[in-house]
Amino acid sequence: MSSATIIDGKAFAAKLRHRVAAGVASFVAITQRKPGLAVVLVGDDPASQVYVGSKKKATVEAGMNSFEHRLPATVSQEELIALVETLNADDAVDGILVQLPLPAHIDDKAVIAAIDPAKDVDGFHVVNAGRLAVGEDAFVPCTPLGCLMLLKEYVGDLSGKNAVVIGRSNIVGKPMAQLLLAENCTVTIAHSRTQDLPDVVRRADIVVAAVGRAEMVTADWLKPGAVVIDVGINRLPPQAGETKGRLVGDVAFDDALAHAGAITPVPGGVGPMTIACLLRNNLVAAHRRAGLEVPQGI
Ligand code: NAD
Repeated sequence: MSSATIIDGKAFAAKLRHRVAAGVASFVAITQRKPGLAVVLVGDDPASQVYVGSKKKATVEAGMNSFEHRLPATVSQEELIALVETLNADDAVDGILVQLPLPAHIDDKAVIAAIDPAKDVDGFHVVNAGRLAVGEDAFVPCTPLGCLMLLKEYVGDLSGKNAVVIGRSNIVGKPMAQLLLAENCTVTIAHSRTQDLPDVVRRADIVVAAVGRAEMVTADWLKPGAVVIDVGINRLPPQAGETKGRLVGDVAFDDALAHAGAITPVPGGVGPMTIACLLRNNLVAAHRRAGLEVPQGI
């Protein structure tokens, strides 16, 4: 039985981070300053703390400044927006990331709208979402951008491919579909109301699963040879002898290996690309703000 190529997101992300670090070094040589990324964390959600910690470490490793702002869960929306406005005006800050989710009393749309689109390295501002939709230069959300890079690396030309994106969130599904459309794929966006989802997925040369349901996509849903990008991160309940359950994606990986042409593992697939693309977006923001040409190959 044939076995799929395992797409090594970790290795690809390490190479991208190297290229970003080299770009940072040239930027510093020209401008005499380091690019800066400000990360705002509200409250003490454990998963968000881990994400923010990893982002800070990677930012510093790439040679950039990391400015961390931790606010209590009781902070008001006005205070949070006031901080965003201070960061907008701060010349040492090239990118601003407000870690989601925010506490229920804060409207995340209002906070994202307050970020200067030129510093919106998460690509969540409506100006960047709109630019992506009409095909202009935009900051693209890091996770779908990373997925696209992996697809281009493993598939090459995506033109004319049937792509099915499962999930329609603003953070992953919708921008992923826009990126694939821009690469001339025939794109279907599937979601929780899609009928006959397995049949829809069976038509796909490229499957991007961004649902958040452990191993929902089974091997019999896949066209033989399909390239599968698994965005989902789901923790299974702990089995006997385990303190924590295993992390799995939205695709039943072991069985899919016999059907897919190539597939990303979880962990070690899309996840490492997200942070690498954040560093990449921040370097791009720094170049644009300094009026410099963005380096090739990042
Ligand atoms: P979300 O909850 O905002 O969106 C999930 C989408 O899945 C929705 O559009 C919904 O319509 C669709 N959906 C739900 N049930 C479905 C079903 N039964 N059939 C078909 N579609 C269904 O989630 P999100 O923020 O887009 O994240 C999706 C997954 O990706 C989560 O597991 C999340 O943890 C993971 N994620 C990973 C990274 C990474 O860096 N690897 C980044 C972002 C999100």
